[in-house]
Amino acid sequence: MILAGLRLSELEDLMQELKATKFRAKQIHNWIYFKSVSNIDEMTNLSKDFREELKKIATVTETKIKLKQVSKDGTIKYLVEYPDGECVETVLMRFDNRANLTACVSSQVGCAVNCSFCATGKGGFKRNLTYQEIIEQVLTIQRDTGLKVTNIVFMGQGEPLLNLENMLKALEIFNEDFQIGARRITISTSGIIPGIEKLANLNLQSTLAISLHAPNHELRKEIMPIENKYNIQDLKKALKNYIEKTGRRITIEYILIHGFNDTAPVAKELAYLLKDLKCNINLIPYNSVIENDYKKPSNNDIMKFKYLLEHSGKKVTVRLERGADIDAACGQLRGKNIKNNE
Ligand code: SAH
Ligand code: SF4
Repeated sequence: MILAGLRLSELEDLMQELKATKFRAKQIHNWIYFKSVSNIDEMTNLSKDFREELKKIATVTETKIKLKQVSKDGTIKYLVEYPDGECVETVLMRFDNRANLTACVSSQVGCAVNCSFCATGKGGFKRNLTYQEIIEQVLTIQRDTGLKVTNIVFMGQGEPLLNLENMLKALEIFNEDFQIGARRITISTSGIIPGIEKLANLNLQSTLAISLHAPNHELRKEIMPIENKYNIQDLKKALKNYIEKTGRRITIEYILIHGFNDTAPVAKELAYLLKDLKCNINLIPYNSVIENDYKKPSNNDIMKFKYLLEHSGKKVTVRLERGADIDAACGQLRGKNIKNNE
């Protein structure tokens, strides 16, 4: 049995089976989620005899670090390996001016959505992650660094709304067991409408981020095949409904690709589209991850685009590039590792 991923009540049931007190469950829970130990022997406030007994039936984790890269800016990228040999990427980002430690977690091995600019999409879809596998990514970071993660973004590999049940269960554990407030958790989606509708009914405190990347159907479908299934007008309706039901402001993510979706007319069209939507806008300069013709815009073009959008009265931020020296963009490390093994 693997202890990581067990809730307090599940640990209490286990203690009952072992004829131990409820308090032992609380101690073990603390070792797993806060002190982030890797094995039972490190749980030093349990008696040696009890640890031996526990070791007969349980282990803390079977998840390993396959690769690790540390960037000059403090970003750490892990390739995490599960018992079946499948790997996903997890990134720890720190921002100098804040005490926040943000984990960027994956929700699937690969991704079926297949956006043209994304390294993960290129590799195709392998399988969903279980909720235990999702939370193991954050535990891996905590075990390795000895630090406590404070914020989570579902912006690693995979489409979280196509693995909704496991994503929601992981969210609950982050919230209740890791004590990471729902407001410190962001879910990013390529625009899976049925998933957005479900989230609207749940009325979570977390932030919903939408990977929009284009202001109209024609442009969007060139880079995101999902546009053929859930088109931008229906998506906007679903977002309006989400905002109305939850009262929450959403985030619009927008990759800037030079000469494709970063021009002045496109900026104006985007401003018009978003005018009546309660949102902040996050511009992401394209990160060159795979061989294609896409390029990131110049800083000047990025600022011009930002300026035109700000005219719509929205708050616009440009995402800082993190870990540029360590393949920290979505899907790069796993992609490289697979290539190297071929
Ligand atoms: N599947 C979800 C969440 C994971 S991707 C989604 O698409 O929203 C997280 C973010 O990284 C998305 O906004 C995605 O569009 C962006 N991304 C993917 N490849 C990128 C690249 N090469 N350069 C910049 N951003 C990229
Ligand atoms: Fe999947 Fe997101 Fe990559 Fe698109 S950008 S292929 S939805 S992981």
